Amino acid sequence: MDDMFKEALELVKAQATVRAMTADEMTNMVSALAKSLQALSQPVAESAGAAPVDAAKADSAKSIREAAVTCLECGKVFKIITAKHLALHGLDADAYREKWGLKKGTPLACKALVRARRKKMKEMQLWERRRSAAGSKPKAAEAAPAALPVPNPANPPKPKAKGRPKKA
Ligand SMILES: [Zn+2]
Repeated sequence: MDDMFKEALELVKAQATVRAMTADEMTNMVSALAKSLQALSQPVAESAGAAPVDAAKADSAKSIREAAVTCLECGKVFKIITAKHLALHGLDADAYREKWGLKKGTPLACKALVRARRKKMKEMQLWERRRSAAGSKPKAAEAAPAALPVPNPANPPKPKAKGRPKKA
């Protein structure tokens, strides 16, 4: 909370150098800013220091929330827990899930991110379906969104050669 006020104060100070403000204006602005700064930082602040790891262990599923996921090893808060981070604890994703009783295949990312990814996947699948309906491609192309029909700049349509075509 103190930090919020300090930060808000800095913002107001900066603002005061740009235009003249009355003391009342400044006071109001500081408290309004502090409030919104606090609201902004809530999702992370709430568990950054406070949540003890033991409580998290009791219900590890709760470590995965809408906008953040808490590393149950160290209590740090992320959008997504990377393999690189888990390596710091000597774990990989599977070992982590097993250790903390998370269901196999649980994404170690905040729900918002997982949802966005799922949506993207769905879009890709729709696109795949449309494409295979049109061209009935083999399955191998499934996971290759890079295979979009991009015109190849290295191979432009050649102008017809002048002169007579050679006979073979
Ligand atoms: Zn950690």
